Amino acid sequence: MKDLSLPFTKEQITGIIREHPTPFHIYDERGIRDNAKRLKEAFAGVEGFKEFFAVKALPNPYILKIMQSEGFGADCSSLPELLLAEKAGIVGENIMFSSNDTPANEFVKARELGGIINLDDITHIDFLKQNAGMPDLICFRYNPGGESGNAIIGKPQEAKYGFTKDQMFEGYATCRDMGIERFGMHTMVVSNELNPTYLVESARMLFDLVVEISEKVGIRFEFVNLGGGIGIPYRPDQDSVPYDVVAAGIQEAYAEKIEANGLAPLKVFMECGRAITGPYGFLVTTVLHMKHIYKDYVGTDACMANLMRPGMYGAYHNITVMGKEDQPANFMYDVTGGLCENNDKFAIDRMLPEVEIGDILVIHDTGAHGYAMGFNYNGKLRSAELLLREDGSVTQIRRAETVDDYFATLDFEGLPEFPA
Ligand SMILES: *Cc1c(COP(=O)(O)O)cnc(C)c1O
Repeated sequence: MKDLSLPFTKEQITGIIREHPTPFHIYDERGIRDNAKRLKEAFAGVEGFKEFFAVKALPNPYILKIMQSEGFGADCSSLPELLLAEKAGIVGENIMFSSNDTPANEFVKARELGGIINLDDITHIDFLKQNAGMPDLICFRYNPGGESGNAIIGKPQEAKYGFTKDQMFEGYATCRDMGIERFGMHTMVVSNELNPTYLVESARMLFDLVVEISEKVGIRFEFVNLGGGIGIPYRPDQDSVPYDVVAAGIQEAYAEKIEANGLAPLKVFMECGRAITGPYGFLVTTVLHMKHIYKDYVGTDACMANLMRPGMYGAYHNITVMGKEDQPANFMYDVTGGLCENNDKFAIDRMLPEVEIGDILVIHDTGAHGYAMGFNYNGKLRSAELLLREDGSVTQIRRAETVDDYFATLDFEGLPEFPA
């Protein structure tokens, strides 16, 4: 069962709202740090284990500072993400640059920062060499395709990412011939996955390929990067991924494949985003209107601009009506925002306690791919982000957008006057 508890009481959140009007996302620093420590503890026996936090999940420098202090690196995939990592002081091989369809200037910046470059395509070897120069450490992203022969991992042949298996052999041989001596291998074939078996299976698949390529190409691998994709329980009946089960499975596969073939030490990296911060973020919003037509609607002061996942994927996010936790959930509502799109709904046919105008709703699990996915369609502005510190104080780590921000890219000065 999912933990539905909140890191604040109704009284506390009411006090915070007095200083910081809704809507806002609030992140629980203690929750994030405790989770980071649980992950590190569970993986302590995994060779060279390191997590590179996927910046796209929660791109805020305060959060990156927390990641850095927990010993995590940053997984970046664009120039602004590289710059954010740099501003948080995460540089060198604490940066994993896992991009795709990459412009030259991004490779240049990743090289300048000394980041680990994870190539998405075999043609990017020459592209990187010509535009940014070859680094001394190179990593390729593997796409096992449909012929992977692995029933558990399924059919990634529809995914745009990575090298085919043949290209992996060819690419490493090319880099070997260029004189490169440091190698890594990456894959990411699962997303929001709650089953530990799938995660362990990704590791087994990479270990097998490390064995095969080490032997046939005659190179030595320094690390594998298992990607992100560890899921979180969004629904009340789901459970968190047991990190210790995943770690034990990886250790077993490591002994069987890497140690047994004399290929140790091989470091094991991950680049999770969702599992690291997802459960520790909350979108706090106030009920503006109640509407009763063919269905009953709760109209909030937040909208898709603040959280796209329900509208985009039909994703489920738990909703708490503050102060009504103990009341029976016997009213059915669609919980909406004010965007002129009918999929601007945080929940459809959701059973909640009776909601009234002025109620505070807390939408759970917005700590990853929440604020970050927001957009400005319909002139909707993105909210502030707050950090609930371990001592109970609150720091605003991003202010809310203003109309001036929305207009900042427009030119009102040179407006022509057309004859009527
Ligand atoms: C999105 C992404 C991640 C993070 O995924 P989560 O589901 O947040 O763990 C990691 N690596 C790459 C290459 C990604 O595209």
